[in-house]
Formats: sequence, structure tokens, C-alpha cells
Amino acid sequence: MSIQVTKSSMPNYEEYIEEIKELWDTHWLTNNGVKHKKFESLLIEYLNVNNLTLYVNGHLALENIISAMNLKGEIITTPFTFISTTQAIIRNNIKPVFCDINDENYTIDVDNIESLITEKTSAILPVHVYGNVCDVKRIYEIAQKYNLKVIYDAAHCFGVKVNGKGIGTFGDASMFSFHATKVFNSIEGGALTYNDSSLKSILNSMKNFGIVDAENINNIGFNGKMNEFQAAMGICNLRHIDAEVLKRKQVFERYLSNLENIKGIKLLREQKGVKKNYAYFPVVFDGYKLNRDEVFEELKKNDIYARKYFYPLANSFDCLKNYFDNNNTPVAKYISERVLTLPLYADLSLDDVDRICNIIVGKRR
Ligand SMILES: *Cc1c(COP(=O)(O)O)cnc(C)c1O
Repeated sequence: MSIQVTKSSMPNYEEYIEEIKELWDTHWLTNNGVKHKKFESLLIEYLNVNNLTLYVNGHLALENIISAMNLKGEIITTPFTFISTTQAIIRNNIKPVFCDINDENYTIDVDNIESLITEKTSAILPVHVYGNVCDVKRIYEIAQKYNLKVIYDAAHCFGVKVNGKGIGTFGDASMFSFHATKVFNSIEGGALTYNDSSLKSILNSMKNFGIVDAENINNIGFNGKMNEFQAAMGICNLRHIDAEVLKRKQVFERYLSNLENIKGIKLLREQKGVKKNYAYFPVVFDGYKLNRDEVFEELKKNDIYARKYFYPLANSFDCLKNYFDNNNTPVAKYISERVLTLPLYADLSLDDVDRICNIIVGKRR
């Protein structure tokens, strides 16, 4: 059987059916139904945050917070991310200004941010890439100094904690994605967490066409609502998330023990005080006997599909490359040409991990 880079978590069939049963009584399928309300409150507790608003997906959540905060001009972000981050900025008619990443955990290089700030800068939008936590303290200090908003793309960071604090409490807001391929899913789905509770009513109205009540619409909004079937899937998956993360941890640690201390193979470093979610296992091939593309092909020959996350960089795609020069973010460029994320999901067997690693290091079994 082929091994994909990820495999979506699902509850037992019976568990999901049980959860959605009452929808046949109420016929209330979307628009802030009972499942939606329940899912929201469960997430506030699980993520340890003050405020949370659900969305049909993570991308629209990100687009919405940028517009709800009325940001303008330029937003500083990184190109080492899924294209959604960049598109959320551009679709708000704001210019993304690409900051390089650090070569330790591939999050925004905080020493580079200040030189990119202009009088047009309105916010910083860093990415907790692979579930690695950005330097939230330095980013906070810079944002305070220049009076900028901070929105984190926390799509990879579901359930991560820093010194016991939920990752979604840092910055002004954070976006989580519950897409099928993520550590935690509601089929598709997403959420914003934020510290200023006065944002709640505007976010709720904007994701529902700006509707305030039957006769009042005071904002230009859109349709970003999560439906009841998504919320029910989220409720079920949330019951099992801790067990799933524990299984991911075992897979992660098996990769580590197989691949650490090999010349030319660079792995993620531990981050102090961080409770991880083991979202991804990126490997950087730098000076290894095979280059990244050769490893990718070798795995593919064995029906194993790793991913070149994040290659190409967001500032290198056809739709953007004429506007940005990826030589301005040399570390991001360097890493994106050498990184491969290996298959990682809760049900991946440790035998399969060994097999994948043996192919990478060239051992036969
Ligand atoms: C998945 C992802 C998104 C978009 O989330 P969706 O729920 O798929 O819309 C945004 N940013 C990053 C870094 C992601 O990985």
C-alpha cells in the first residue's frame, strides 16, 4: 500500500453517526446551530484561549481578521508557508513584504523585521511553521515599539502550548486550520482566536454577510460559516486528539532516532518550554550523499510520497514572481530547495517509519 504524507484522522463511523443523529430532528444544518455552539466552547477550553470564532476554513478566517482589523498598506510576513498566508494579505489589497526566516526553526527571522518596517506597515503576520513557535516575545516587543498588529498563522499549531499558555493567546489574533490534512480536522474548518473580545460581534457578522439582524447589515461581509456536519466531525475528533498527538509523538521520535547524527541530514531542534503537536517531520538535506529531489524520487519509487513543503516559496510562484525577488529571502530559498517533509500521521506504523528511513539512508532490509 502506498504511504501518503498524511492521512486524515476520523472517529469511528458509529461515533460520528451518533453525533449527527439529532440533526435529523432539528433540520438545523448551519448558521450557528447546536453543534457549532458546542464545538466553539469545547475549543475555547482545549486551546486555552479567551475568544474564538469558527469558520468554514482557515483561509477565510485569516482573510477576515485582516479586514476586520481594518489593516492597510503593507504587512510583513514570510514566504516559507502555504500560499494561503500570502493570498489572504493580497486579497485584502495589502502588499505582503517578505521577511526572511531563521535557519533554526524556519519561522520569521526577528532580527530582520525592523529593517522592513515603513510608514505603510500595519501588521506583522508570522507563521508558526511546522508547529514551531515563532519568537513571540521579540515580535511582541517590535509590534509595541512601532504600534503594529500581530496576527499569527497558527494553521500548523493546533494544541501547542508555550510554558503552559495556549499558542492562540499570543499576538492580537491567531488563525487555526482544521483542514483534513492537519493534526486536527473538522473535514474543512478553521478558527480565529483573539484577545480583544470586542472583535467577536464584528467577526460573527462579517462571516455571515455582515448581517446584524433581519433588517440591518452594517458591513460588507462574505459567507464563511462552518456547518453542523463539520462541527460534529470536529467534536468527535477532539475527543481523540490527545491520543492522536501521543501516537504522532511516537512516530516523530522513531524518525528522530533513525535519522539523527547523520552527516548532511538536518532535523528540527527542540524548543524549550514548548508542548508540541508533532505536526510535521521536515528534513533538510544539506551536503548529504543524495539531494532532496533524489530522496523524494527514491521514496516515490517505493510508493512513498513525501512533500516538498515549502517549495516553491510563496514569492516564487508564477502569479507572484514578477513582483517579488526570492533572492531577498535567501535563507527561505536555501531551505525550500533542500527540505522534505516525511509522512507523519497517527496511524503510521513504526515499521513503516523504519522502512522509510532505510530507503533514505540506503540500507536494505
Ligand atoms: C492549511 C494552511 C492554511 C489554510 O487553511 P485552510 O483551512 O486549508 O483554508 C493557511 N496557512 C497555512 C500555513 C496552512 O498550512
